[in-house]
Amino acid sequence: MNRREWMQSGLGLAGAALVTGRIWADEPTDDSDPAPLIAKIGPMMEKIPIEAADLGNGLHLIQGPGGNIAVFNGPDGLTVVDSGVPMRAKDILDAVKKVGGGKPLARLINTHWHFDHAGGNEVFAQAGATIIATANTRKRLSTEQYTEVFKMKSPPAPAIALPVLTGEVFQLHLGNEEVHLASVPPAHTDGDLIVHFKGQDVIHTGDLFSHGIYPNIDASSDGWIGGMIAAADRILKHTGPKTRIIPGHGPLATPSDLAAARKMLQTVYDRLAPMLDAGKTTEQAIAAKPTADLDAAWGKGFFTGGMFTRVVYEGLKRRRAGGK
Ligand SMILES: [Zn+2]
Repeated sequence: MNRREWMQSGLGLAGAALVTGRIWADEPTDDSDPAPLIAKIGPMMEKIPIEAADLGNGLHLIQGPGGNIAVFNGPDGLTVVDSGVPMRAKDILDAVKKVGGGKPLARLINTHWHFDHAGGNEVFAQAGATIIATANTRKRLSTEQYTEVFKMKSPPAPAIALPVLTGEVFQLHLGNEEVHLASVPPAHTDGDLIVHFKGQDVIHTGDLFSHGIYPNIDASSDGWIGGMIAAADRILKHTGPKTRIIPGHGPLATPSDLAAARKMLQTVYDRLAPMLDAGKTTEQAIAAKPTADLDAAWGKGFFTGGMFTRVVYEGLKRRRAGGK
């Protein structure tokens, strides 16, 4: 699948950003630098269709612009995991209501603070949702954030968009369904939450897993690749042969899809850590093309191999500078 085809298949942020295949082709630029893509995401998001899939027993998956969204229709109303991008919040809320069969919006869980997962918080809260997240997600949403690799400032969210209930472990008892929420040590950010619908055997991973593409790892939010590997191991421990996994981005996945992503992360980690030990700069690490043999399989999403190398290396550097 080339970048344009992927884009057309409507796979969310990863898919949307694949228009960038054309951007790179049209404009000679550094294809290891993701920052120029960010300004182009907004207009792209407007055009991505929103699609809903029925996962059975009251659970739906909504995909399109931004991260993947789960909607569970329970006895006290709808429980939604992630709220998508701000510029499409109303459309996404409409899609949620449509699969929700007229039930009120009870609660919204944020897997983390990024704009493509928590960007609809304001609209969802106005519609009645109580927002649940980790303490670090609330902290980052409530203060200005600067994402270094994207050169992107995120202003503080308005008060109504902030999580009302914060914690690291929750169990929701929704009729016959039990939903277990658990935070992990810093991985994609420092506030990631795994959401496990136990009865359905469905796990929403947030951006701890992007299916079939290089994931973002947000060093500016204390994310790092070692944490991503540990988080993948932890999620895999909770899976069985029939578990379905909703990744942060990309199509519905199986545990073996997640295991393949974990293996790729380990390979990249094992190649980049010695470069850092040897004192190489980020530019030297990128120039060595450490992901060359992986790019055909993983480099068709938002990040090229060069960008992913940059993101991982910056995270490793920051982690080491922090004495960890
Ligand atoms: Zn994210």
